[in-house]
Amino acid sequence: MTDANLLQLALRREQDIFEVRQRGREAAAALGLEHQDQIRIATALSDIGRQMLVHAPNVEVRFTVTGEPPNLRILMHTKGHLDGQTIAPVGRLVDVLELTSDGQGTTVMLSRRLPDDHVSAERVGEVKRMLASSAVASPLDELASQNEHLLSALDEAHRQRDRLEVLNNELEETNRGVMALYLELSSELEETNRGVVALYAELDDKSGQLRAASEAKTRFLANVSHELRAPVTSVIGLLRLISDPGSDPLTAAQAEQIGLIRASAADLLSLVNDLLDLAKAESGRLDPMWTQVDLGQMFKQLRGTLKAVLTTPEVELVVDIPEDGSWIESDEALLSQILRNLLHNAVKFTDRGEVSMRARCEERSWIITVADTGIGIAPAHHERIFEEFYQLPTRQKVRGTGLGLPYARKLVAVLGGSMSMESEPGRGSVFTVTLPVTRQP
Ligand code: ADP
Repeated sequence: MTDANLLQLALRREQDIFEVRQRGREAAAALGLEHQDQIRIATALSDIGRQMLVHAPNVEVRFTVTGEPPNLRILMHTKGHLDGQTIAPVGRLVDVLELTSDGQGTTVMLSRRLPDDHVSAERVGEVKRMLASSAVASPLDELASQNEHLLSALDEAHRQRDRLEVLNNELEETNRGVMALYLELSSELEETNRGVVALYAELDDKSGQLRAASEAKTRFLANVSHELRAPVTSVIGLLRLISDPGSDPLTAAQAEQIGLIRASAADLLSLVNDLLDLAKAESGRLDPMWTQVDLGQMFKQLRGTLKAVLTTPEVELVVDIPEDGSWIESDEALLSQILRNLLHNAVKFTDRGEVSMRARCEERSWIITVADTGIGIAPAHHERIFEEFYQLPTRQKVRGTGLGLPYARKLVAVLGGSMSMESEPGRGSVFTVTLPVTRQP
């Protein structure tokens, strides 16, 4: 809405302040402001009016409704000077309080936002008429109404204090609730913590026991196999002596029995040796002798030994010799042992087709595969064959201890690499050994 003048007054004497006060209150009430706001405006007007009168005898007061959203705006002008500091506390009573000074004097502007639904053009006209016609109360009446206002302000203050007390009580109660919850939670947390600590202690205990058991097993294997090796070796030596052409001649039956005993003793010796190797690898006392190993050379040697083992003409041995200068930093004896174990297995479990060994270099690693077209291994056994003494039932009797693969896998780990396997029953197996080209710290 456009600006509309409501009323214009002149303040000349102390008594006129009562009228300004009364009009301010009436205008505020008629335009829909609440009781408290009416008193605020009236108080602000009388306070500023009084201060202005001290400096100059004439103050013009103009009431307007202005702006969108609408405001009740009151302008008070004096020819005298007024200090902004002295009226600053009044700012708390209205929305806007502005003081402008120039050569003409000082103007103070007070403004208070009005509720929209009370301020139509007609309403403003009505208020204007009402203010023009209403009688001015005597100073005594105004004093009485001021007292009344004071009392109602006191009442309001009391009510506020009571409300504050209720709020404080509520707050205290909430605090007590929060504290109780906090205590409950922290005691629960403490209990859980104690449980976790106990669980960890038990876990530590159990892993200690497990470590001790594993060490005891390794010690036992090492001792037993070491103790067995000497007598078995001497049995083999004695048997060789007995069957020596220089010794007393044996009957055909005796010679056959001695042959069987020698074969069994040889099996026993290989088991004992395997056990000793494994125990050594497990105890962590296996220190590789790191050297530059010529892979081509090693492949050639392995091909030579394997040819002697390969007895069936239906199985072809294919060894792809890596080109000259194929080096790996490793332990020659251990690496050769790993590949020999894999090749021996491949030959043992293959009746026809091919046993092959190949090497390729990829991203600073040597990848060596030993593949066969033999009986293969069902998925259920893929991990278990790396367990000690685990052997699969086969149609024909094949010799072995069930220690070759676990030992080979441990050696690969000692050399800083890894071993994996892919296999399908009836189609064959591929064992893959991946080793770093140079020793990893
Ligand atoms: P061993 O060969 O002395 O029995 P290993 O630990 O070397 O012991 O092998 C464990 C088992 O894994 C073997 O008994 C065999 O059942 C299975 N296995 C190993 N290599 C192969 C292979 N190339 N093809 C089929 N089965 C295999």
